[in-house]
Amino acid sequence: DDTISKIAAGEVIERPASAVKELLDNSIDAGATEIKVEIEGSGVKRIAVRDNGHGMSHMDASMAFKKHATSKLTSIDDLELVRTLGFRGEALSSMAAVAKVILITRRGWDVAGTKVMVDSNGVESVSEVGAPTGTTVEVADLFHSTPARRKYLKSSRTELAHITEFVTNYAIAHPDISFTLLNEGKVVLRSPATNNMFDNIVHIHGAEVARLLVSVVWENDLVKISGYISKPELSRSGSDLQSFYINGRSITSKAISNAIRLGYYTLLPKGRYPAAFLKLEIDPRIVDVNVHPRKTEVRLSHEKEIMEAVTAAVENALSSNHL
Ligand code: ADP
Ligand code: MG
Repeated sequence: DDTISKIAAGEVIERPASAVKELLDNSIDAGATEIKVEIEGSGVKRIAVRDNGHGMSHMDASMAFKKHATSKLTSIDDLELVRTLGFRGEALSSMAAVAKVILITRRGWDVAGTKVMVDSNGVESVSEVGAPTGTTVEVADLFHSTPARRKYLKSSRTELAHITEFVTNYAIAHPDISFTLLNEGKVVLRSPATNNMFDNIVHIHGAEVARLLVSVVWENDLVKISGYISKPELSRSGSDLQSFYINGRSITSKAISNAIRLGYYTLLPKGRYPAAFLKLEIDPRIVDVNVHPRKTEVRLSHEKEIMEAVTAAVENALSSNHL
């Protein structure tokens, strides 16, 4: 019933940043090369994500808010499907359960676009509109119907920091996509499509950070690891200069963070974390990649072997650079 669906929706959309993340995943799935994120009131008042991806048909748009209408979990054997970032088929329906959502979309070859509005009572209206190719999703008044959730949200500055972190992580991992993040109309982040992860790190974290990076390239039969880690002299007391991706999806993982530190042996002072931007490519037919919808903390089968590979990749990168 209504209450249950709102609680379940809260599992997927815990905070404004989770909505932003789901919308980014959808835009990336749609093959966008430009993604613009607008935030007002730290995302509670309004989040708008606009992409120039392939858009949706009138029919698909009017189905998009039906729960599980698009779930791909039944065909998890299909490598290509699992590789795409969205696989639960409930992000938009979950958002619509806790916010007012407007979706505007048009495919390149369609004459008219489609606008779907879901109001606070869950009532949908579908109409034809003029629209550029691609999709815009606007989420307004998040948690208006679940005051308990709204109360629980951290300060507006913390919420904005979470959103910025997600967009930054995606910008690094997807150098072929240009990202813009606007807060209250002001540019917070603008990453051009450089087509190169290193250039994006320079752009986002600055040349001082980039100067201290060494590249990581490692592969065994379970996992392919690539990206950058820092020389020991660049370390932080927290893991704020670390971004990890599994099959293109931004994830958090204490296990990966620890496996990286192990690779430095005694090179790092106690309690310090190096910078690390690592992509793991894992064959989903072998490894079960399970991301908790709320926490983004990843659970992996074969975890021990994969973490050993991460440590080995780090050792190898450091020793190749005589560190
Ligand atoms: P999922 O991504 O898990 O399938 P969502 O609720 O996030 O579920 O999205 C539902 C469906 O709506 C997607 O499968 C996709 O077909 C379509 N869709 C959502 N966002 C976009 C977008 N930005 N561009 C094109 N299609 C989209
Ligand atoms: Mg999705």
